Amino acid sequence: MQSPSESLRIGHGYDLHRLEPLAPAGPGRRLVVGGVLLESERGPVAHSDGDALLHAVTDALLSAAGLPDIGQLFPDTHPENESRDSREFLKAAGNKVREAGWIVANVDATVILEKPKLSPHKQVMRSNIASALDIDASRVGVKGKTHEKVDAVGECRAIEVHVVALLVRD
Ligand code: MG
Repeated sequence: MQSPSESLRIGHGYDLHRLEPLAPAGPGRRLVVGGVLLESERGPVAHSDGDALLHAVTDALLSAAGLPDIGQLFPDTHPENESRDSREFLKAAGNKVREAGWIVANVDATVILEKPKLSPHKQVMRSNIASALDIDASRVGVKGKTHEKVDAVGECRAIEVHVVALLVRD
Protein backbone atom coordinates (compact mmCIF):
# COMPACT_ATOMS: atom_id res chain seq x y z
CA MET A 1 0.00 0.00 0.00
CA GLN A 2 1.20 3.49 -0.84
CA SER A 3 1.92 5.93 1.94
CA PRO A 4 -0.62 8.78 2.28
CA SER A 5 1.97 11.22 0.92
CA GLU A 6 2.06 9.24 -2.33
CA SER A 7 -1.65 8.48 -2.58
CA LEU A 8 -3.28 11.81 -1.67
CA ARG A 9 -3.10 15.33 -3.07
CA ILE A 10 -4.98 18.43 -1.99
CA GLY A 11 -5.49 21.45 -4.22
CA HIS A 12 -6.74 24.96 -3.61
CA GLY A 13 -8.43 27.14 -6.19
CA TYR A 14 -9.45 30.78 -5.99
CA ASP A 15 -11.15 33.11 -8.43
CA LEU A 16 -12.61 36.58 -8.41
CA HIS A 17 -14.43 38.39 -11.18
CA ARG A 18 -15.42 42.01 -11.20
CA LEU A 19 -19.18 42.43 -11.65
CA GLU A 20 -20.41 45.26 -13.86
CA PRO A 21 -23.81 46.25 -15.30
CA LEU A 22 -24.88 43.90 -18.08
CA ALA A 23 -24.33 44.84 -21.72
CA PRO A 24 -25.28 47.13 -23.39
CA ALA A 25 -25.27 49.37 -20.26
CA GLY A 26 -21.87 48.04 -19.19
CA PRO A 27 -19.20 45.41 -19.88
CA GLY A 28 -20.80 42.67 -17.74
CA ARG A 29 -21.62 39.28 -19.19
CA ARG A 30 -24.64 37.32 -18.01
CA LEU A 31 -23.96 35.96 -14.52
CA VAL A 32 -23.27 32.23 -14.78
CA VAL A 33 -22.17 30.42 -11.61
CA GLY A 34 -21.52 26.69 -11.58
CA GLY A 35 -23.10 26.43 -15.01
CA VAL A 36 -26.33 28.08 -13.78
CA LEU A 37 -27.55 31.34 -15.29
CA LEU A 38 -28.56 33.63 -12.41
CA GLU A 39 -30.89 36.58 -12.60
CA SER A 40 -28.78 39.66 -11.92
CA GLU A 41 -28.39 43.24 -13.05
CA ARG A 42 -24.62 42.79 -12.93
CA GLY A 43 -22.36 40.15 -14.40
CA PRO A 44 -18.69 39.26 -14.68
CA VAL A 45 -16.15 41.01 -16.84
CA ALA A 46 -14.42 38.07 -18.48
CA HIS A 47 -12.97 36.65 -21.67
CA SER A 48 -14.72 33.28 -21.27
CA ASP A 49 -18.25 33.02 -19.82
CA GLY A 50 -16.75 34.22 -16.51
CA ASP A 51 -17.96 31.33 -14.37
CA ALA A 52 -15.83 31.98 -11.28
CA LEU A 53 -17.00 28.81 -9.49
CA LEU A 54 -15.98 26.53 -12.35
CA HIS A 55 -12.70 28.41 -12.79
CA ALA A 56 -11.78 27.92 -9.13
CA VAL A 57 -12.71 24.21 -9.22
CA THR A 58 -10.66 23.77 -12.40
CA ASP A 59 -7.63 25.39 -10.75
CA ALA A 60 -7.97 23.40 -7.54
CA LEU A 61 -7.90 20.12 -9.49
CA LEU A 62 -5.05 21.13 -11.79
CA SER A 63 -3.01 22.41 -8.89
CA ALA A 64 -3.56 19.27 -6.81
CA ALA A 65 -2.21 17.18 -9.69
CA GLY A 66 0.75 19.52 -10.24
CA LEU A 67 -0.48 20.51 -13.69
CA PRO A 68 -0.36 23.95 -15.35
CA ASP A 69 -3.14 26.29 -14.18
CA ILE A 70 -6.26 27.42 -16.00
CA GLY A 71 -4.62 30.59 -17.30
CA GLN A 72 -1.76 28.59 -18.80
CA LEU A 73 -4.01 25.93 -20.36
CA PHE A 74 -6.71 28.30 -21.60
CA PRO A 75 -5.15 31.76 -22.06
CA ASP A 76 -7.57 34.69 -22.03
CA THR A 77 -5.69 36.08 -25.02
CA HIS A 78 -6.78 33.15 -27.21
CA PRO A 79 -9.83 33.80 -29.44
CA GLU A 80 -10.85 30.13 -29.03
CA ASN A 81 -11.58 30.81 -25.35
CA GLU A 82 -13.72 33.88 -25.93
CA SER A 83 -17.23 33.46 -24.44
CA ARG A 84 -16.35 29.81 -23.90
CA ASP A 85 -18.52 27.65 -21.66
CA SER A 86 -16.35 27.06 -18.59
CA ARG A 87 -17.72 23.53 -18.23
CA GLU A 88 -15.34 22.72 -21.10
CA PHE A 89 -12.37 23.93 -19.00
CA LEU A 90 -13.52 21.83 -16.06
CA LYS A 91 -14.09 18.76 -18.20
CA ALA A 92 -10.63 19.11 -19.76
CA ALA A 93 -9.07 19.52 -16.30
CA GLY A 94 -10.89 16.42 -15.07
CA ASN A 95 -9.54 14.44 -18.02
CA LYS A 96 -5.98 15.65 -17.42
CA VAL A 97 -6.18 14.76 -13.74
CA ARG A 98 -7.44 11.28 -14.62
CA GLU A 99 -4.72 10.84 -17.25
CA ALA A 100 -2.17 11.75 -14.58
CA GLY A 101 -3.47 8.80 -12.52
CA TRP A 102 -5.73 10.55 -10.00
CA ILE A 103 -9.36 10.16 -8.95
CA VAL A 104 -11.30 13.14 -7.60
CA ALA A 105 -12.28 12.19 -4.05
CA ASN A 106 -14.19 15.39 -3.34
CA VAL A 107 -14.49 19.05 -4.18
CA ASP A 108 -15.65 21.69 -1.68
CA ALA A 109 -16.48 25.22 -2.81
CA THR A 110 -17.47 28.45 -1.08
CA VAL A 111 -19.01 31.10 -3.33
CA ILE A 112 -19.15 34.64 -1.93
CA LEU A 113 -21.78 36.67 -3.72
CA GLU A 114 -23.97 39.38 -2.25
CA LYS A 115 -26.93 38.65 -4.51
CA PRO A 116 -28.83 36.81 -5.81
CA LYS A 117 -29.15 34.00 -3.26
CA LEU A 118 -27.41 30.82 -4.33
CA SER A 119 -29.44 28.39 -2.21
CA PRO A 120 -32.15 27.63 -4.82
CA HIS A 121 -29.41 26.71 -7.32
CA LYS A 122 -26.80 24.88 -5.26
CA GLN A 123 -28.01 21.38 -6.12
CA VAL A 124 -27.87 22.09 -9.85
CA MET A 125 -24.39 23.61 -9.45
CA ARG A 126 -23.25 20.46 -7.63
CA SER A 127 -24.65 18.23 -10.38
CA ASN A 128 -23.09 20.36 -13.11
CA ILE A 129 -19.65 20.11 -11.49
CA ALA A 130 -20.11 16.39 -10.80
CA SER A 131 -21.20 15.57 -14.33
CA ALA A 132 -18.31 17.54 -15.87
CA LEU A 133 -15.96 15.46 -13.70
CA ASP A 134 -17.88 12.23 -14.12
CA ILE A 135 -18.27 11.73 -10.36
CA ASP A 136 -21.25 11.46 -8.04
CA ALA A 137 -22.77 14.74 -6.86
CA SER A 138 -22.33 13.58 -3.25
CA ARG A 139 -18.61 14.30 -3.73
CA VAL A 140 -19.23 17.95 -4.51
CA GLY A 141 -20.07 20.62 -1.94
CA VAL A 142 -21.18 24.15 -2.82
CA LYS A 143 -21.79 26.73 -0.10
CA GLY A 144 -23.06 30.26 -0.60
CA LYS A 145 -22.05 33.19 1.59
CA THR A 146 -22.54 36.94 1.42
CA HIS A 147 -19.88 39.50 2.28
CA GLU A 148 -22.17 41.33 4.73
CA LYS A 149 -22.44 44.36 2.42
CA VAL A 150 -18.83 45.39 3.04
CA ASP A 151 -15.96 45.82 0.57
CA ALA A 152 -16.21 45.18 -3.19
CA VAL A 153 -17.88 41.76 -2.87
CA GLY A 154 -20.41 43.07 -0.35
CA GLU A 155 -21.16 46.03 -2.60
CA CYS A 156 -22.06 43.65 -5.48
CA ARG A 157 -18.97 44.69 -7.44
CA ALA A 158 -17.32 41.26 -7.43
CA ILE A 159 -17.88 37.53 -7.00
CA GLU A 160 -15.27 35.51 -5.13
CA VAL A 161 -14.82 31.74 -4.91
CA HIS A 162 -12.61 29.47 -2.79
CA VAL A 163 -12.29 25.75 -3.53
CA VAL A 164 -10.41 22.80 -2.13
CA ALA A 165 -10.21 19.46 -3.92
CA LEU A 166 -8.81 16.13 -2.80
CA LEU A 167 -7.31 13.64 -5.23
CA VAL A 168 -6.52 9.98 -4.54
CA ARG A 169 -4.27 7.69 -6.55
CA ASP A 170 -6.19 5.60 -9.06
MG1 MG B 1 -11.96 33.36 -13.79
